[in-house]
Formats: sequence, structure tokens, C-alpha cells
Amino acid sequence: MCWWKKKKPSPGPSPTPTPGPPPAPPPSALLHPEEPSDPTRTMANTSPADLAATIQMWKNNYQVPVGQNVFWDTMHVELAAVAPAGGVAATDCAGRQMWIEPAWMNPGVIAHEMSHYAYWQLTQKRKNAFADLLSPLRISDAAIMAIPNLNASDVEAYADIYRYQGSNMPESLKDFYKPYLF
Ligand SMILES: [Zn+2]
Repeated sequence: MCWWKKKKPSPGPSPTPTPGPPPAPPPSALLHPEEPSDPTRTMANTSPADLAATIQMWKNNYQVPVGQNVFWDTMHVELAAVAPAGGVAATDCAGRQMWIEPAWMNPGVIAHEMSHYAYWQLTQKRKNAFADLLSPLRISDAAIMAIPNLNASDVEAYADIYRYQGSNMPESLKDFYKPYLF
């Protein structure tokens, strides 16, 4: 099993209002910056059609190979009021099952979860080769270093590299995402 362990946001201290226009945000080094959650979306007002549309947005935004639709369309994805294991979405690779909370139903979270399947398809030898290749990139590659809080575990790092950088990831890593994601 592999779980998207994103913690639920907790209310922090209120930001201190500053006078004048806010400074422009710095340009993002991420191809797919994180989408904010939408707390207005609930089980009551979100439909399977909305979910299907979001999955299609993931395919479009990340240029998922059209020839792999047969593979991806056999994944069972469903909305859940509370995702298992304390995250906002969860994936059971062996069961080909994903759960996602309506507020977090966005292409980036779908991308993260779907990539768990792609990783799961790799042989152990390929997983080891991915780890060997990734290790030095964590401290030397700008695209990798731009990813916020890149997980120490290879499986979660694999998912976040795809989720945040998509086709901007280092060319050397793309082989490990084929044929399902590139
Ligand atoms: Zn994950």
C-alpha cells in the first residue's frame, strides 16, 4: 500500500495585515505548483462526473500518453468523506483503488496518487536504479531541489517529482515513468 500522507491543514496564527499592495510572489520553479484545497467542495456537492473531469484535467495538464488510457481507466477512483490513513487521498496499488477527499480533488493530487501505480509497476531492480539516480540529484538538480519538502522515501519522492515537475523533471529520471506517464 502507498498513501498520500499530506497532513490536513491546521488553523495557524492569523497573518498580520500589512498596509499597501502585497509583494508579487516570486516566480515558481515548479511546473505544476500546488493547487489550494477547496473546502467548499463536499461529498454532497461533488459528483463522480466532477471526479472524472478532474482525472481528465490531470491527463491533459500532464500530457499523459493517450495510448495508456486503457491502463489508467482500469483504476478505481472514488470520492471519500475521509481518506484512509490520515491523509487527504490514499492509494492501494494492489487493489487498484484510490480514495480522494472532495476538497483535495485536483489534478496535482490525482497526479501524485496515480504515479504510485507507475512506481508499483517497477521491478525491485528498477526501483533500486531510480534510487541510485535520484540520490545525488536531491542536492544538485535545480528542478528536484525546488520541490517543497521532498520526501526521503523513494516512493513518495517519485510521486512528488511527477506531481510538481511533470515533464520538467530531469531527463534521466523520465525512463522510470514510462510507459504509463511519459
Ligand atoms: Zn503518496
